[in-house]
Amino acid sequence: MSIYPWQRSSWVEVFSNKLKMPHAYILHGAQTLEINKFADELIKSVLCSKTNKEYFACGKCQDCLWSKTNHPDLIRVINNSEEKNLKTDILKVDDIRGAKDFLQTSSHQANGKKIVSIYGADRLNIQASNALLKIVEEPPDNSLIIFTVNKLNNLLPTIISRCRLVSFSKPSKDDAIEFLKQTDNAEFIDNLSLYNNLPLELINDKEMLTSINIILVELKKGQEIDLMKVNSAWLNNGLAWIINILQKWTYELLLSKLTQGYSFFPKDIEVISKLALRADLSKLLTYQKTLNTIKSYPQIAINKEINLDSVMIEYKKIFSN
Ligand SMILES: [Zn+2]
Repeated sequence: MSIYPWQRSSWVEVFSNKLKMPHAYILHGAQTLEINKFADELIKSVLCSKTNKEYFACGKCQDCLWSKTNHPDLIRVINNSEEKNLKTDILKVDDIRGAKDFLQTSSHQANGKKIVSIYGADRLNIQASNALLKIVEEPPDNSLIIFTVNKLNNLLPTIISRCRLVSFSKPSKDDAIEFLKQTDNAEFIDNLSLYNNLPLELINDKEMLTSINIILVELKKGQEIDLMKVNSAWLNNGLAWIINILQKWTYELLLSKLTQGYSFFPKDIEVISKLALRADLSKLLTYQKTLNTIKSYPQIAINKEINLDSVMIEYKKIFSN
């Protein structure tokens, strides 16, 4: 099985009646990699001639081998425009017409499906979106059209109304912990909160965790922080990255001071509560404001090193009398 454990119910839902699959699906969720993975598995399954009883592809038949490269019954379009609000016409109207014609032809497999899969269908400009609509309008019987989207509102309502919607949510904390255990990443369970309980993001970021821990060693010293240890290596991942850590850390101090609660750093809760007792509330709040301001600076206008030094000097002051 190669979908993620927390996608199982969606898988069961999609295959609840394989003989009566709709012509078009919209796979919708915030986690792009996860929904794309689900789409890939769905495509492999539909093309495979020897799926198992849970409808997962066998991985060995001729269709599975073709799926890995080019399957004659599949067109896959990946919209790589990662920038959030950038809509592209990467999918040209001609491509869409091509996809529409492709769906009209008979399938290579006897009684098989013709599949058009478009990843990132929500990041298309209006011409491309209108062309998409043409694909889902009255597709031939053996068609399967799959869109993956982060922002459902970016799709035309007339497209949405013609598709079966499958929504994906984040894994529960228990699912996330179980997944880390199963993938030999149990040692990072305590860091999950730092990644909003998203285990894939944590695993992708494993190398960064070492850097985070080096920084935390210093932050835990509070007023005794060794400013000589603050060095340019802290900035290897960018100023925004370290400001983000400082924001989470000071948020934790604030939470501990006001409510004895904790959120991001569960394994450090003892150190945090001791530090929180020594922290001055108004200085802590001012510091958080400063971090927000720095984060909003235009990237180009800052001298990163000078900024980081002053940021750490201000951090030290939170604990002074
Ligand atoms: Zn197969």
